[in-house]
Amino acid sequence: MKRVLVTGGGGFLGSHLCDQLLERGNEVICIDNFFTGSKRNIRHLLNNEYFEVIRHDVTFPFYAEVDAIYNLACPASPIHYQHDPIQTTKTSVHGAINMLGLAKRLGVPIFQASTSEVYGDPDIHPQTEEYWGNVNPIGPRSCYDEGKRCAETLFFDYRRQLNLSIKVARIFNTYGPRMQQDDGRVVSNFIVQALKGEALTIFGDGGQTRSFCYVDDMIDAFLRFMETPPEVTGPINLGNPVETTMLELAQTILDLTGSKSKLVYKALPEDDPRKRQPDISLAKELLKWQPTANLKDGLLKTVRYFDAGLRRTETI
Ligand code: NAD
Ligand code: UDP
Ligand code: UDP
Repeated sequence: MKRVLVTGGGGFLGSHLCDQLLERGNEVICIDNFFTGSKRNIRHLLNNEYFEVIRHDVTFPFYAEVDAIYNLACPASPIHYQHDPIQTTKTSVHGAINMLGLAKRLGVPIFQASTSEVYGDPDIHPQTEEYWGNVNPIGPRSCYDEGKRCAETLFFDYRRQLNLSIKVARIFNTYGPRMQQDDGRVVSNFIVQALKGEALTIFGDGGQTRSFCYVDDMIDAFLRFMETPPEVTGPINLGNPVETTMLELAQTILDLTGSKSKLVYKALPEDDPRKRQPDISLAKELLKWQPTANLKDGLLKTVRYFDAGLRRTETI
């Protein structure tokens, strides 16, 4: 049995990762400051004797004895990471330094939840890992994009200087149950709006694209990546290459929910990437992985999750 540390384990991806690690016979320590995560996401694990949760901010040092580290702590939705941008950069950079220091002391492998945002508003399409990106260093998204880029730099310097085993995953848009109702990301926004009969908020003309991966596929990729030999460091793109416009996404969600909601057009946020699609050739080759869930099936499961949550809120 291995003891695994998951930072940000109370969040959307982190809580699914804790589930899967426990399922596979590991002991899990989850640390989270609950800035965007929720105890609800891990409530079902609190009685599990192999699960431990500690309220802790990764910008401060953390000492424990573990066999592997998944570093996921960081707000991921634009409204949340822009709420306190200085803290966002600190979380990415100081958090990475502390977790790398821990991995160095223990000599254990460490996984980093990096992001497709390191490519910024990309000039290369689809994005391959060799592409260095097109990122504004001083805009409203920079705290997140540049924080994650700096974290990648730290991971590769700890690798080069100290021979640490690192696993850097560039995660593309992922969705599924346990996203927050109000976290501002497009999938949760559209589903909640459709279920409430409110207008779906299309930013810009809705022609911008994203490629959405269902959470179960993503967690499977994390686990496979951690199992690879030390020379497999990444960065590796993880995501579902099926690309869709925001207008198509809105229509699919209206169809799935049977909602009569209208569309309302709002201003496109500053530096919003026009398109995004992962090239996952490397993940296919090195992890023997590719997503299996199609968008409609994944969205339907997500709709059911939000529907149940909204009904609960209404009856309280
Ligand atoms: P999330 O907001 O649900 O989870 C992040 C978790 O980190 C939350 O539980 C939050 O409370 C915690 N956290 C934030 N700051 C912290 C701090 N200083 N100390 C301790 N805990 C802290 O978001 P998510 O979608 O689950 O994202 C998880 C990770 O994956 C993030 O690092 C994110 O950047 C990355 N990622 C996610 C996506 C996606 O589409 N979901 C895409 C690219 C990258
Ligand atoms: N660190 C930690 N837990 C540990 C070991 C280190 O949080 O078990 C932190 C430590 O506080 C330091 C950071 O990780 O700030 C980087 O550690 P490293 O050993 O690389 O750097 P140094 O301590 O030499 O500056
Ligand atoms: N978006 C939208 N309506 C919303 C929320 C987001 O049209 O209510 C758009 C947003 O402008 C972006 C895309 O959907 O082009 C994905 O946004 P999200 O915040 O989910 O992720 P990110 O921009 O970080 O990929």
